[in-house]
Formats: sequence, structure tokens, C-alpha cells
Amino acid sequence: MKGFQARELVRVIEIDRKICKGCDFCKAFCPAEAIDGKYGTAHTIDKTRCVACGQCLVHCPFGAPRDMVDGVDKVIEKLETKQLTVVGTIAPAVRVAIGEEFGMEPGSLVTAKLYGALKQAGFKILDTNFTADQTILEEGLELIGKIRHYALGEPAGQPVGPLPQFTSCCPAWIRYAELYYPELIPHLSSVKSPMMIAGALAKTYGAKEVWQVQPEELFMVGIMPCTAKKFEASRPEFTSAAAYWNRHGKAGRYPDVDAVLTTRDLARLFKKLSIDFANVPEFTDQDNPFVQYSGAGVLFGNTGGVMEAALRTAYFVITGGELAVPEFKQVRGLAGVKEAGATMKDAKTGRDVTLKVAVAHGLKENAKPLLEQVRAGRSPYHFIEIMNCPGGCVNGGGQPVNPMDSLW
Ligand code: SF4
Repeated sequence: MKGFQARELVRVIEIDRKICKGCDFCKAFCPAEAIDGKYGTAHTIDKTRCVACGQCLVHCPFGAPRDMVDGVDKVIEKLETKQLTVVGTIAPAVRVAIGEEFGMEPGSLVTAKLYGALKQAGFKILDTNFTADQTILEEGLELIGKIRHYALGEPAGQPVGPLPQFTSCCPAWIRYAELYYPELIPHLSSVKSPMMIAGALAKTYGAKEVWQVQPEELFMVGIMPCTAKKFEASRPEFTSAAAYWNRHGKAGRYPDVDAVLTTRDLARLFKKLSIDFANVPEFTDQDNPFVQYSGAGVLFGNTGGVMEAALRTAYFVITGGELAVPEFKQVRGLAGVKEAGATMKDAKTGRDVTLKVAVAHGLKENAKPLLEQVRAGRSPYHFIEIMNCPGGCVNGGGQPVNPMDSLW
């Protein structure tokens, strides 16, 4: 994409130069080589290269990098405003990490407690797993459209992007592509991330049909394991709700997502509101249509999860049948790059289609070789999942900071 200009980054992460010892740990974990400074001198982050992933923050042994976008007090103020409905959308990786902030074992799954604490704080819930299902369906169908066109020779009803298709739900990866591989942007799936789908859905259908409020009376909060989501929410192109309401005679600015809290931020919010998380009554919110989801939605929190979920969908749509064993295990696990292939019979034409997919987590070491292959026109894959953080969002830059992390 000649002449492409990456969007100016909202400054999410900064290094506190008074605390920084210049030990260089952060440089080892920065995927974008955005940290400047000689060994032994205080470092700085160049925001024209930073992807806002927060990996420097969770790995610095001295706590020098800071998350500069703090929405905790603003969200509390909105929760205390009677005329407002505050909706929280909770990513899958938050529910296995927030317990750690309250003395529970790392990895404890506390979904019902988290729902209970959110209810106590005054949130309505739209589980991000619900919109992860929508992302998967849309991404899977987009891929199938390309496969039918390029592999089965079907005419395309509308313009289709090139193969391989890349996943688009990790905002640090999107920022990296914009900065370092702009010519690969047409390969990105056009589908929004689950958080951004949740925002648009809450401010339109949710406001009208579920909570029956005006869009200006709804405040949408993304609750994410990720600092880069703060940048994603600030992108001015996410205006679906405003477009919808403007078409329906309500002129105004309705950002799809108003604020993002990381897992750490949410723990601080609960503490400020004196919510005793460990003893909060569990809540399942069973009558809420926005907390229903499939196992595919849950997989989003791990590396390989998006790919596995999309492959299951592709298999169902192409063959017309369910997988006998509903798992593509080759894309699970923590290997830096994983690949899988699956041959399936197209129910329409009777022809066999073989899908080749790859999954990479960690931009510098693992994704880069796959990107270079695509750039050179030598990629054997149809679909590539890329997540910035090692292991996927469970190890995101907004998760609890464990001092031991800096030692590996
Ligand atoms: Fe955020 Fe997940 Fe991407 Fe990490 S892998 S930057 S947590 S979306």
C-alpha cells in the first residue's frame, strides 16, 4: 500500500525515567524494537514504533513502564450516574486472571464471581465470548468466500481480498502490520475484533431492545487483558453506532467503546468500590441473551483459539456436517509457530478442498518469518492467526504483573 500512513498512536505506555535502571529487559520483550536508550541509562519508548502491547510493562523487574490511559475513576463516575446504563464486555482471558489480584491461585476460572462483582459495581454484562462467536462466523465466512473463489473457481459476488487471510482481532498485530508491513493490509480479515463488535452491538440493538435506553444514556466499557485495546477503542474509524443512530434521526457522536479497563484496572475499580471479590456472591445472569456463547468463543483467549474456532466453522459451512472430533488439536499448545491442514469435501461441488493454516504468537520471532513468506508470494497457507503476546491474550500486557515473569 504505497503512501499508507499509520494512524497516530494514543500514547498508552511510557517509561518512568526516574525508575528505569536501563537494564534492557524491556527491549528483549518489545516486539517492535520501540525502546531507545543505552544499557545503564534511562530508556524511552518511541511512539512512532510502539504497538502498545504492554509486554515491557509486565516484564520490567522495576515497574518502570506505566499504562498512561487510566479510565478507572471515569468509569466509577459513570457507574454512579443514575441516568446511565454502564455495560461491561469481558474478554475470555480476564476471567482466568482477575482472581490472582485477590490472592487466588493464578489461572483460577472465576466467571460467576466476576459476573457477581460486576453486578455489585453496577455494570450490565455483554460477555465478549458472545461477540467472539460472531467474529468467528464472519471471519470463517469471509475465508470460505475466498476459498470458493480462488480454489473452486466460483465467481465472487463482491470484491474478495487476497489469500492468505490474516486474523484481525489483536490490535497490537494490526498496528505492527500498519507500521512494518503496510503492503499486507489487504490480507487482513475485514472483521472487527470481538470488543468492537460488542460496542457496536450494545449501542444499537442492546440499547434499543435489551436495555431500552437512548444511545447517549449507554456507556460502554471494554474489560480486556490488553493495553493495546485502549488504542483500538480510540480509533476514529469505529463509528458503527453513530452511523446507525445518525441514520435513524439521532445526530451525535456515539463511540462504539467509551473506555477500556485492563484486568489490573478492573481489580483496582473493585478495590476502590470496596467490593470483596473473594466473597462476592456468584451470579450467572442466565436470562441475559448476551451471555450465551459456544465453546468456540471461549477459545479466543489462547494462541490458536481464533484459528481453531474459525476452522470448525469453515468445516461446517463447506461440508454441511459437524466434525466427528470437534477439535483441531494441531493449532493448540505453546509452540511459537503451529501449522495444520484439513481436507474436506465441498457439499456444493463434491470436490475436495484442502485448507492449510498457521498460527503464530510473538511478532518478532514467530510472526515475522510468516509475514516475509507472504510478502515474497511464497506462503503455502490460506489462513494465518497472529497474536502479539506470547501464549496469546492470557499473557496480555493488561494482566496481573507477576514479578517472576521478568525472570524468564
Ligand atoms: Fe492484546 Fe491479546 Fe494481542 Fe496481546 S495477543 S496485544 S493481549 S489482543
